[in-house]
Amino acid sequence: MENVRIQDDLFLYVNQEKLEQLVIPEDRPTAGGFAELHENVEKLMMNEFKTLEKEEDIKDENLRKAVDLYSIARNVKKRNSQGIKPIMKDLTVIRSTADMTLLNRRLYTFVLNSYPLPFNFGVDVDMKDSNKHCIMLSGPRTILPDTTMYKDENQKKKLLDIWSGIASQVLSHTDLTEEERQQYLNDTLEFDAIIATLVKSSEEWSEYTKCYNPYTTNKVNRLLKPFKFKNCLKKIFGYVPEEIIVADPRFLKGFNTLFNEETYEKYIHWSYMWFLFSNGAYLSEELRDLCGAFRRTLSGIAKPTEPVKFAYQLASSVFDKPIGLYYGKKYFGEEAKKDVVDMVKQIIAAYKERIANSDILCDATKAKAILKLDTMKIKMGYPDKAEEIFDKFEVNKKDSLFKTLSNIRKVKFFDEVDRLNKPVDKTKWQMPGHMVNACYDPSCNDITFPAAILQPPFYSINQTRSQNLGGIGAVIGHEISHAFDNNGAQMDENGNINNWWTKEDYKKFEKKTKEMIREFDGITLPWGEVNSKLIVSENIADNGGMAVTLHIMKDMKDANYEEYFINWAKVWCQKAKPEYQALLLKVDVHGPVLLRTNMPPRNFDEWYETFNVKKTDKMYIEPKKRVVIW
Ligand SMILES: [Zn+2]
Repeated sequence: MENVRIQDDLFLYVNQEKLEQLVIPEDRPTAGGFAELHENVEKLMMNEFKTLEKEEDIKDENLRKAVDLYSIARNVKKRNSQGIKPIMKDLTVIRSTADMTLLNRRLYTFVLNSYPLPFNFGVDVDMKDSNKHCIMLSGPRTILPDTTMYKDENQKKKLLDIWSGIASQVLSHTDLTEEERQQYLNDTLEFDAIIATLVKSSEEWSEYTKCYNPYTTNKVNRLLKPFKFKNCLKKIFGYVPEEIIVADPRFLKGFNTLFNEETYEKYIHWSYMWFLFSNGAYLSEELRDLCGAFRRTLSGIAKPTEPVKFAYQLASSVFDKPIGLYYGKKYFGEEAKKDVVDMVKQIIAAYKERIANSDILCDATKAKAILKLDTMKIKMGYPDKAEEIFDKFEVNKKDSLFKTLSNIRKVKFFDEVDRLNKPVDKTKWQMPGHMVNACYDPSCNDITFPAAILQPPFYSINQTRSQNLGGIGAVIGHEISHAFDNNGAQMDENGNINNWWTKEDYKKFEKKTKEMIREFDGITLPWGEVNSKLIVSENIADNGGMAVTLHIMKDMKDANYEEYFINWAKVWCQKAKPEYQALLLKVDVHGPVLLRTNMPPRNFDEWYETFNVKKTDKMYIEPKKRVVIW
């Protein structure tokens, strides 16, 4: 083991021993930290499912359906014997849509069955009036996970060659001739190359308020020509809504370079290919293996998930809320809930104090920020009940896995259509109880902490207050800070895009945001360069989470800063495949765990005082370069 000093590398100092012992499972890209807790929950719930599957009458109807879906998915013999058959009808419909007239006639069928279109649209919360819904339109996804990857010729070629190898094997399961397969493959790549020039990169998507671009439906209809988009909307919703929110205006503007008479056939082949790839996992084992191979390559995952685990994971994502409810009721204690809710309230109160003392805000802006904190809602553990939509899901053990999922998809589609003119249900949870994560929802101005994250090292009744503050406390502070990161700052207490700042204050905040970007500028890790703009919102949140928890420590008689910083570092202990690290640098708004551990502390006096950190130490930065925003 290396002899590491805490002053040089907090992450390695705390986690070195554990990192050496950690073995990344063959079916995952990471081990330790969040992944470890996630796996433990998964193991526990997989055992539950094993037992539940034998039970004759499961009282909770949704849980029963989840278990039935699990049984269907893990029936490898049946899936293998059916092969590609369950989706052949759909593939034939896509393929036989020979021209634009026919496509316009079949547009509703395409939407209803999720046959890929050269644009996507759906019902979402209206960012300017978060009690209402709107229709949001964006471009299709690309084969490579980020558009910037198309700009590096070597990388592009290497990855698209791998993808093509996999795609031709997938296509060999269809009834296409050898010649056709080659054509489908080439056309898909050509169509994808045009998409990549039009749609947003991960960095562009990370500024989510920029997704709000209202267009009249007439204009969208014109830009989407030759599609009869308005007709399609009328068929779906029963009328033509007046306005569409365009998430990606550049894509829409360039739509006719992607889709025109010359590219029509390419589109159909591309659509066929994506439909096949997106649903292959629900067919035979061979196809499931193939359709997941590219994702595994990108993440450095050695093997596909074994069938029983795959079946559980699928059931767990389709019936996430009912399963989260089951987990929460059985494994989450009321005592812990009360304790953490108290902690959240204390952290919000401390946040208010910090806002009141902020040197970048005038009184008027402070009052607005405090209003946002006062109205922030807390969702702790798990919701009282699962949403009604789960009652509408049908699972018939005689059906194929694909048919079951396709039916559920349709139920979701009709639910979405129905939602357009209904008020937004702000009691809905963004995460189920068995998920090891936490979030801030800008449109509801609420924070969610699922039961599964409330365990060590994040939280335990048996850990000290200082340890809990370095763990779940900093996470709570992080989520609250999202209300005031570069995106959240543009939304008000009701979850609407609304400027509540004075001009001068916002300028000062923007300057601070730039300083935060600069703090992460030019950092290169063995897997690639860090994109400081992509990760700025998360870095503001990490910084805010640490600031507010250290603020609380100041008034604690038994504050133990060593325990605080060490538990902070423990939370981030994670080992990951290099391929995965490289991928995350391109697409993830969160920075690498090494930086998330080691960057925030160096902005705070407590770090320097606790460990006597000097100029010559690696985790030292000059006082004038230290950034604290909230
Ligand atoms: Zn975050």
